[in-house]
Amino acid sequence: MKHLAAVNKYFWKYKSRLIFGILFIILSNYFRILSPQVSGYVVDKVTQAIKLKKGLPITNTPRNRNYDVLVKQLVYWVETGNISFSNMIVFSGITLLILALLGGFFMFLMRQTIIVMSRHIEYDQKNEVFQHYQKLDIGFYKTHTTGDLMNRISEDISRVRMYTGPAIMYVINLSATICFSVYFMIKENAELTMFVLAPLPILTITIYTVNTIIHKKSEKIQSLLSGLTTTAQESYSGIRVIKSFVQEAAMMRFFKEKSNLYKNNAIGLAKVEAIYFPSMALLIGVSTLLTIAIGGWYHVSHHQPEVSAGTITEFVIYVNLLTFPVTALGWTASMIQRAAASQKRLNEFLQIQPNIFDDNCASLSSLKGDIVFKNVSFTYPHTGIKAITNFSLSIKEGQKVLIIGRTGSGKSTLAQLLLRFYNPENGNIKIGNHPLQSIFLSQLREGISYVPQDVFLFSDTVSNNIGFGMPSSPSKQEIENAAKFASIHNEIMNFDKQYDTMIGERGVTLSGGQKQRIAIARSLIKNPEIVVFDDCLSAVDSKTESEIINNFYQYLQNKTAIIITHRIFSTIRFDKVIVLDKGAIIEEGTHNELIQLDGYYAELYRLQLNRGESIGDSSLA
Ligand code: ATP
Ligand code: MG
Repeated sequence: MKHLAAVNKYFWKYKSRLIFGILFIILSNYFRILSPQVSGYVVDKVTQAIKLKKGLPITNTPRNRNYDVLVKQLVYWVETGNISFSNMIVFSGITLLILALLGGFFMFLMRQTIIVMSRHIEYDQKNEVFQHYQKLDIGFYKTHTTGDLMNRISEDISRVRMYTGPAIMYVINLSATICFSVYFMIKENAELTMFVLAPLPILTITIYTVNTIIHKKSEKIQSLLSGLTTTAQESYSGIRVIKSFVQEAAMMRFFKEKSNLYKNNAIGLAKVEAIYFPSMALLIGVSTLLTIAIGGWYHVSHHQPEVSAGTITEFVIYVNLLTFPVTALGWTASMIQRAAASQKRLNEFLQIQPNIFDDNCASLSSLKGDIVFKNVSFTYPHTGIKAITNFSLSIKEGQKVLIIGRTGSGKSTLAQLLLRFYNPENGNIKIGNHPLQSIFLSQLREGISYVPQDVFLFSDTVSNNIGFGMPSSPSKQEIENAAKFASIHNEIMNFDKQYDTMIGERGVTLSGGQKQRIAIARSLIKNPEIVVFDDCLSAVDSKTESEIINNFYQYLQNKTAIIITHRIFSTIRFDKVIVLDKGAIIEEGTHNELIQLDGYYAELYRLQLNRGESIGDSSLA
């Protein structure tokens, strides 16, 4: 329960809704609780009339006894108003109708305030969690699966809503119903109340227990179902592999097995539910029966002669009014328990603080100047892999640097350190003599055009993907220019809806090279002073590559550029080439110097020449 304290701030925020909600619940219950009294009174009047007609002695007159003031007033009008018997019945009928309407009206208002409040809280909470997710650094995303993140923001928040809405509403509602009915029942006849209410706690405990079993079973079914869905989904997306390895029959067997398990569990649940509802009805029936039996015995045996047919009617209606709250008590308790477990999971995430945040930052007029890495070392925290070791590099403003090296040598890590996705373990990185930690994260990342190695495009139009990072929506011309620089314009113009074509699941499927070039266009449109391209031409053919490189050459004229690649391309005059191995520099110099050095770079160069790949004009480097 203590975990749910985290949502108290929302109750405070929506306190007026909550207060009105409670008021409406009380009013709704108040009007509902009057109907048993009116019904009891009518029954007594009818019994009296029958006895009068048969000439039997009237043993107990309906006294203006322990009714509520409103009912007392009504009885007073009827008794003193000298109205006929049939008019009295009609009058009481109308009163019952009005009471039901009033009860219903306030119930409507109660749902409108409390349930609407819970939807507002759900909205706020979703935003709170999403905003927190966005603040967390890349390291957090590496250690938590997407499924887990999705579950917490959707499933867990929905469960907490069951607490802030229905559960709170039912708890207040059932407290009000129980208080009102038990109060009037005891006022009427304390002994009878005890007997009549005796089975109700058993009902509550039974419902709570059965509900917990049902919940456990449905949780299991839910996870089996999601396993089944994943199997089906994987077999659709991996259909080519399945077919080429002729594994259809094996997949079918696997699917059947999972499907069968799901079916058996679902049947088990149906069995529990089949017992649940009849047993509930039985317990309610027992309560009603007890009321009639004991009340009747009191009446007949003259043990308590004031117990009339009206009293019994009143009690039977009270018992029925109490049934729903008592039933609700069981499942509200398990609903609150589930919400607490979900909120605990949410709190776990909300308490995680990002390692990367703005602290003592100064606003710079613009992000430019020399980029200096000094003795930088970095180990990935959750795996302990040392990716960068004592790395030092100085890049003057406007210089173009090529970083090359074997796979896993730490190239992408360097780019990510420059964007401050991680803080270095040792050493420091400066841009324009400002340590990265002193630059606002937003300014740092807005000021660098970064194309990551694994490009990602959103399921949106081509133009929205290209204009993604722009503060205001860019003009059509700006988007087209960026696409032309990235040599993708002509291909986009061949799409059906050109720049309005949807990308991804709902639209066209792009080739790897097309995706890379759209990602390049997205970074070029920002036009900042520093660019970092991480192996972003790996999926394009050499002709397109040299086209893009020619464009880059114009585009990069006055910019500082770090280009990471596996291939040597040299239309761009690189001021420096760095060869990285195991996180450290093993070769550093210009193209010519490295060729003379005859190390890794020279070997790669020769290999590429032998394969006949285009190298561009090497004399430029
Ligand atoms: P490639 O040329 O294949 O892109 P790279 O030079 O970019 O390789 P990095 O991605 O920087 O290499 O990886 C350097 C080392 O750090 C590798 O040993 C890799 O396994 C490890 N590494 C990379 N990313 C992570 C991560 N998110 N968590 C843990 N270890 C990582
Ligand atoms: Mg890489």
